[in-house]
Amino acid sequence: RQISHNSTDSSIVYSELPDCHLPNVSLTQYLFEKTDEFGHKVALECGITGRKYCYNQIRQLSVRFGSALIRMGLKKGDVLGVVLPNCPEWAFVFLGSTYVGVTVTPANPAYTAVEVFRQFKAAEIKAVLCHSQIASMLKPKLNNMSTVNIFITAFGHIDGWVSLEDLLSADIYSEEAQVDLDNDPLILPYSSGTTGLPKGVILSHGNVVNNLCQYHVPGTTRIQAACNDYQEKYVSILPYFHIYGLVVTLLSGLWYGAHITILPRFDPDLFLRTLASVKPTVLQLVPPLISFLANSSNLDRKMFQRLHTVMSGAAPLGPSIANKLLERINSSSLFLQEGYGLTETSPISHVSPLKGSQIGSCGKPISRTAVKILDLETGASLPADLEGELCIKGPQVMKGYYKNKEATANMIDEEGWLHTGDIAKYDSGKRFYIVDRLKELIKVKGLQVAPSELEDLLRSHPQVMDVAVIGVPDERTGEAPRAYVVLKPGSNVSEKSLSNFVAERAAPYKHLHGGVVFLGTIPKSATGKILRRELKSAI
Ligand code: AMP
Repeated sequence: RQISHNSTDSSIVYSELPDCHLPNVSLTQYLFEKTDEFGHKVALECGITGRKYCYNQIRQLSVRFGSALIRMGLKKGDVLGVVLPNCPEWAFVFLGSTYVGVTVTPANPAYTAVEVFRQFKAAEIKAVLCHSQIASMLKPKLNNMSTVNIFITAFGHIDGWVSLEDLLSADIYSEEAQVDLDNDPLILPYSSGTTGLPKGVILSHGNVVNNLCQYHVPGTTRIQAACNDYQEKYVSILPYFHIYGLVVTLLSGLWYGAHITILPRFDPDLFLRTLASVKPTVLQLVPPLISFLANSSNLDRKMFQRLHTVMSGAAPLGPSIANKLLERINSSSLFLQEGYGLTETSPISHVSPLKGSQIGSCGKPISRTAVKILDLETGASLPADLEGELCIKGPQVMKGYYKNKEATANMIDEEGWLHTGDIAKYDSGKRFYIVDRLKELIKVKGLQVAPSELEDLLRSHPQVMDVAVIGVPDERTGEAPRAYVVLKPGSNVSEKSLSNFVAERAAPYKHLHGGVVFLGTIPKSATGKILRRELKSAI
């Protein structure tokens, strides 16, 4: 997946930034070397309780957790399922597992038990760690998973489960696992990619370390490493079960020695209060949060007096919201930096350049990244200003989907180009613009909703004959899922009752807030594929 700059294809756009050094070390070697340097500076703080950990505790607590996993019988290559809201301890769970070669598959704490179970079963987990409230809900399902025999809970007691707090205080140390950087999976997040149900994305140690190195190339961001008299302040609101929050906020933040104040969920008052007390220097956000800030009547300019960077990613940031936020904050030293990427690219491939950025553009390829735009009909790579499918090559491109060769081959071609399923173009200054989505994915608050998943669910309703789900624009969440439903003859189920059917079985952000529309037939191609574009164009 390394790129070579000698291609004769002049329509391939290469990063303008210098090639970063790819260090050939594990994630924990890459990070602990830095975290040890920052000593007694505060690393992680809970935004609710004020519970704090310093940099000189990161290695020790992570190694304790990883060592405890080994003592309990886990081996390198086993998978740990984690369902934990953001908290400082997330870092120790993740880095500790990584240290001993255990792969983490993180699930959204808002999932229903069925949704968590589906992911954990597919990922073939051997151990589970979850918040005590989630543990009670999951217990009956997990008891049926014979492969799982290690149960860890956090922030509360559950009979028969080991407590995270005990594991973090046990003074035991294992050796670091020898990992194959290119092949051993570091993390297995779930993404639907360009089509179908969510699949495990195998991100190797190398993928994530490479992406961090690419992002840390001087000239890519304004973020600075901590030193005697300076430390970046983050308010961390994006979830760590999603690759953006995990890599860009948590892991990169630790590498920079930032003081990271962590919020477990989005609560408008708590978020604003935390901004006022922390006065962050950097915020990583998604467009719905930018929209929340741009429209909030409770902003105090003092909250933003130190803010130099707001990063937006995971979904399109409309220029009007971007400009509104800039007007509200009204600070000449603020840089609104857009980023683009996918779970499948660990995640970053593009960020706005420090000089010459353009509102509405998702930026330029980061170090060691090559990009091309393919004509949707002919597959030829296109010059500036023409729209086509965005394809990416670089050392951050995933190894593949877990046990799914077909989906992997559909996404990564023989030359190593990842076909993103996004429609984009670039301008004469080589800045990229995401203009549409070819793939069926819906993004709600920056989170993925796979239409196939909701379609499968609705098809299980006794009165539904056929269904198609698409995303419709939504001011608050970016998009909202809408179902087009063909009922069985003689059925009289209401829109509300179908919405409730989904609401009882899926996490809140997947609910049909875009409505239910009854149709006589679902538009389909000759091969039976749903013609989502026809539904979209009729909105
Ligand atoms: P995920 O794997 O959840 O990070 O989702 C990746 C998808 O989010 C991309 O393929 C895009 O469709 C969308 N996305 C991410 N960043 C941006 C952006 N800056 N602008 C528009 N869409 C984005």
